[in-house]
Amino acid sequence: MIDLHTHTNVSDGTDSPSELINKALASGIKILALTDHDSIAGWDEASAHLRPGMDLVLGSEISCQTEDGISVHMLGLLFDRGNQELQDVLAQTRDNRYGRMERIIVRMNDAGIEISMEEVLAQLSEGATLGRPHLADAMVAKGLAKSRDEIFEKWLHNNSPYYVAHYSPTPERAIELIKAAGGVAVIAHPMASLRGRTVSVESFTSFVDAGLDGIEVFHRDHTADQRVLLTQIANDLGVLRTGSSDYHGSGKINELAENTTEIDQWLALEARADARRVVRA
Ligand code: AMP
Ligand code: ZN
Ligand code: FE
Ligand code: FE
Repeated sequence: MIDLHTHTNVSDGTDSPSELINKALASGIKILALTDHDSIAGWDEASAHLRPGMDLVLGSEISCQTEDGISVHMLGLLFDRGNQELQDVLAQTRDNRYGRMERIIVRMNDAGIEISMEEVLAQLSEGATLGRPHLADAMVAKGLAKSRDEIFEKWLHNNSPYYVAHYSPTPERAIELIKAAGGVAVIAHPMASLRGRTVSVESFTSFVDAGLDGIEVFHRDHTADQRVLLTQIANDLGVLRTGSSDYHGSGKINELAENTTEIDQWLALEARADARRVVRA
């Protein structure tokens, strides 16, 4: 089984990178990608805990925004960590998430919801990428709801009055950065409409022109019809299809390897990187 999109407590997942490795090995995954939001801070711990039986693909899920303000997540896999331009953009996004969180909190406080930046930061592992899930965890800790999901449904979804965007590159820019760093770019859950507005079918052409290598087709947030449509788009545009769990530990109901990538698609994807960077124990 191949699972190409997972999170740890280096962003908004709840397992440490070593716990993720252990769980993935135990669940029979043969190839696992680590893709924390806008960060590669979990790469070393995950690599150090790898054991024979599973290969590790190092990556990151890069937050992007189109010119029209649509949120897009771009998976960058197998890129060179020494590429400074890419690291600078990730650092800038991580920094901007603090000011953005403060603005969300002001809006909530103005609406009478009592929550503070200190309470949110208490939910964050040291050095982790700050996100709305940490705010949700702080609200759960205060008894405002039972789970992250409930908080997102009521208060934190993309169409809520409390939603504030943060600086992010356009999808095309993120693809160019990933490619310049020798990696492969796969657009994550492009039709996950529950999260907010999604990109049009036409925009995939622009992403492929920028160098897009694959489309995440098999994901819990896509319906059967959307999977058929995305498979068609991938075939028409000559890019690969992936599938993944988007695992977040106990932060989401997603189970490891609940959706997977076919081996032929993975091999073709890996061959598009400029060097062999898969980590083996
Ligand atoms: P942010 O990067 O701060 O905008 O937060 C986005 C993250 O919040 C996503 O990566 C998901 O992990 C999580 N998320 C988004 N929508 C929901 C939802 N409806 N329920 C639970 N978690 C969500
Ligand atoms: Zn997440
Ligand atoms: Fe995502
Ligand atoms: Fe994700």
